[in-house]
Amino acid sequence: MKVYKFGGASVKDAAGVRNLEQIVRLAINDQSAITNDQSLMVVVSAMGKTTNALERVVEFLAHDEEEKALTQWVDIIDFHVAIMKELGLQPGSDIRLQGEIPYDPTKSYDENYDQVVSMGELLSTQIIAVYLLKQGLSVEWWNMPKLLRTDDTWREARVNDEASRATIRAGWERVNRPNIVVTQGFIGGTADGQRTTLGREGSDYTAALLGNYLDAESVTIWKDVPGILNADPRIEPNTVLIPSLRYQDAVELSYSGAQIIHPKTIKPLENKRIPLFVKPFGDPNAAGSRIAEDGIGPINIPVYIWRKNQILITMRAKDFGFVLEESLSEIFDIIHRHRLKVSLIQSSAVTISVCVDNTRFVEEALQALQQHFKVSYNDHLSLLTIRGTTPQILEQAKAGRTIMLSQTTRRTARLLVKED
Ligand code: ASP
Ligand code: MG
Repeated sequence: MKVYKFGGASVKDAAGVRNLEQIVRLAINDQSAITNDQSLMVVVSAMGKTTNALERVVEFLAHDEEEKALTQWVDIIDFHVAIMKELGLQPGSDIRLQGEIPYDPTKSYDENYDQVVSMGELLSTQIIAVYLLKQGLSVEWWNMPKLLRTDDTWREARVNDEASRATIRAGWERVNRPNIVVTQGFIGGTADGQRTTLGREGSDYTAALLGNYLDAESVTIWKDVPGILNADPRIEPNTVLIPSLRYQDAVELSYSGAQIIHPKTIKPLENKRIPLFVKPFGDPNAAGSRIAEDGIGPINIPVYIWRKNQILITMRAKDFGFVLEESLSEIFDIIHRHRLKVSLIQSSAVTISVCVDNTRFVEEALQALQQHFKVSYNDHLSLLTIRGTTPQILEQAKAGRTIMLSQTTRRTARLLVKED
């Protein structure tokens, strides 16, 4: 079997859904993709910017701004109703629309977040499944909150592989073949039936997990770019497609901040040697990029990766006789407990600096660190990683920028840049 994943941008409107249908039909006609005893797993994100809009609903409700929340909610429903109508579907009868916001003021912000935000994927997949069915395709809709078992770390739920593998494999056994299964990326559920989310942009990760559980022949992520490029086309005018990559290169790229695939995507695929394709949804026959064990590496063109919204936290020992190195485990314990994502580390005789994503967890972590160390920080930073760098490229990258810190090896440069 194969797994196809479609992100929000690829299903942002009715045309996107029709395009998805065409891509799925290509797979069905292609005998190597789907034969009588095979099926296609289609993993979909929320449509367009729905996840951001749902986040605003939660935010409003948490601040008792019910009217604003409701307006936003109605906007979201209207957006989906318009797409349904354009696709010839009957809102209300083809798809039951949730009238009430699944928000419970007695529960925590994060738990409510997962109940509300998961609606985006539930809506998009229902619309797509019903639409494909009406186009005469054989389709099954799967409800991931019942299949992908997670713990209750709201907004960053950890997947229970053993339980999920069992239910998903069992479900797959029962699927009529050939068939198309349409399901949600990004969301799962706890043992007692609460919905959870796996962290923003987590749909790629879902696709990889399903590929792993079902021993997929390949996983394909359909995107609004030609494949993996050497730089973000919104920043660099001259980008080059990287046709082939090894798993480890892809991991490094995504951890450095390349927005192309979620960093957690690679491991489940690498473990089973399942190739990952990144292809343009606007041109389904294009080769795109292929990530696999036998990929070509290291990359011999410079690759520029920006990781935005960084904060550099610097720790000094409170008393002088204290050797900071001895507190390394303490520092990283605090960082780990607060779920900070470290992008760079630098140390001197008396200080240790860690650069992390400036998330909502940082404030509490700073307080915890301040109990043990003298702490200072710099925010509004971006980390630029250049792989395949040369002294010349490095000079160009530094020109006109305020560099807070730089780390270079022979092939890789990392610059912490002040954002303007
Ligand atoms: N819809 C979710 C998000 O926007 C998950 C995803 O797109 O992968 O973060
Ligand atoms: Mg997305």
